[in-house]
Amino acid sequence: MSTEFDVVVIGAGPAGYHAAIRAAQLGLKTACIDAALGKDGQPALGGTCLRVGCIPSKALLDSSRQYWNMQHLFGEHGITADNAKIDVGTMVGRKDKIVKQFTGGIAALFKANKVTPFYGFGQLQPGKRVTVKQHDGSVVELTGKHVVLAAGSDSIELPFAKFDGTHIVDNVGALDFAAVPKRLGVIGAGVIGLELGSVWKRLGAEVTILEAMPDFLGAADAEVSRVALKEFKKQGLDIKLGAKLGKAEVKNGEVHLTYNDGKADVQLTVDKLLVAVGRKAASKGLLADGTGVKLNERGQIEVDAHCRTGVDGIWAVGDCVRGPMLAHKGFEEGIAVAEMIAGLPGHVNFDTIPWVIYTEPEIAWVGKTEQQLKAEGVEYKTGSFPFAAVGRAVAMGEPAGFVKVIAHAETDRVLGMHLVGVGVSELVHEGVLTMEFHGSAEDLARICHAHPTLSEAIHDAAMAVDKRAIHKVN
Ligand SMILES: Cc1cc2nc3c(=O)[nH]c(=O)nc-3n(C[C@H](O)[C@H](O)[C@H](O)COP(=O)(O)OP(=O)(O)OC[C@H]3O[C@@H](n4cnc5c(N)ncnc54)[C@H](O)[C@@H]3O)c2cc1C
Repeated sequence: MSTEFDVVVIGAGPAGYHAAIRAAQLGLKTACIDAALGKDGQPALGGTCLRVGCIPSKALLDSSRQYWNMQHLFGEHGITADNAKIDVGTMVGRKDKIVKQFTGGIAALFKANKVTPFYGFGQLQPGKRVTVKQHDGSVVELTGKHVVLAAGSDSIELPFAKFDGTHIVDNVGALDFAAVPKRLGVIGAGVIGLELGSVWKRLGAEVTILEAMPDFLGAADAEVSRVALKEFKKQGLDIKLGAKLGKAEVKNGEVHLTYNDGKADVQLTVDKLLVAVGRKAASKGLLADGTGVKLNERGQIEVDAHCRTGVDGIWAVGDCVRGPMLAHKGFEEGIAVAEMIAGLPGHVNFDTIPWVIYTEPEIAWVGKTEQQLKAEGVEYKTGSFPFAAVGRAVAMGEPAGFVKVIAHAETDRVLGMHLVGVGVSELVHEGVLTMEFHGSAEDLARICHAHPTLSEAIHDAAMAVDKRAIHKVN
């Protein structure tokens, strides 16, 4: 087997597999290395996203949403669904089948695009050489004219609440509980904590989320966070802000927590604890001595705006470098790097990367928040529109939330779009497109939107920027 390639990619997650497939499409001889094994012990491509992240979490969110709706929403439609039961084994099995379909899909795409996969742990050596310690213990050495580091990220472990895989878990464990825990503690009210907390809450767990920060979802628009928090509390998620975990001890099959609520130490006992306090770059062991590639104090690989590490021919993309830890940010960086290697003008616009939290209601945004614009001293105007006044949302029984469009005070150029409500994970892309095309609130307001659709909330919000929304008093 050939060991000389134009491009060697380490990591077959969203960033790495996009880089590898795009490079191969562009006629470059490409290898992609990944160390991960699936639940069946076989190599599984696709990274955190496909194995234990985006896709499995959405599979469980959807299963649990069906169950929740059956109990809480069906009644108002006149549908009786007494004695609804959830079989967790079947639900998790469905999720595993979806994961297998998609991880296998990447292997098939590699084959179709002539990307050579290597299964094992890759380490960059000086001189654009990469050693791969394969699962059978053998080592192969590859050389690449270019090497793309796409090692992704791992969960951050708290020293006083170490993962044991059974009682104290990260996302991997929380996607695979064998039964609904009676009491689930979650450390961290970020995206992962809220999504996985929602899954088990909808299935009947008592869920307590401890968040060390005093503000809820500080990165989101403040109004969006406020509405979302109110809705989550209505659903019974017990979210405690300013609550700092001090200790977690497993005793007699229970997890005993001590946290400080700002005034005193408080005890809490749960059956399972999900620690979701963030992720760190998976750079451990990735670089041999003397490669010249630098890590920052957070273990991230240092790169410039074009994902260049500063060492000729060595690039890095995705969660292992600066920027938001989002699969689609990794997709774009992977493609851009492959294109730059092929001599094309690859580019990622970091200003228009959308954010989505797949709770109920969903939360999504693109661009600047009002808080950010105020801090930057930018003059702006806003227009908002509630889903409670959107016929389609009300007909669906999903009136919670709103859309807010933020435009520059003078130029009217859209600077941000913030949404909370049903289906906003899809709707946010109207904001992304508008911003990519440097569009204005008036552009959005003059674009015909089908009736009745959820997207009418965006249309009316854009009209509300100039106080001419039709379906509300401006
Ligand atoms: C529960 C959860 C839900 C999420 N939901 C979303 C979501 O809805 N939307 C979203 O955009 N993002 C989501 N994310 C984040 C998303 O999964 C990551 O941003 C994305 O997977 C990062 O892609 P990546 O390619 O950089 O790294 P990863 O997906 O982490 O892939 C890196 C791969 O490299 C391999 N690897 C690492 N080091 C080596 C080595 N030295 N040799 C060989 N192989 C190596 C790893 O095994 C892994 O397969 C979620 C994450 C979690 C945990």
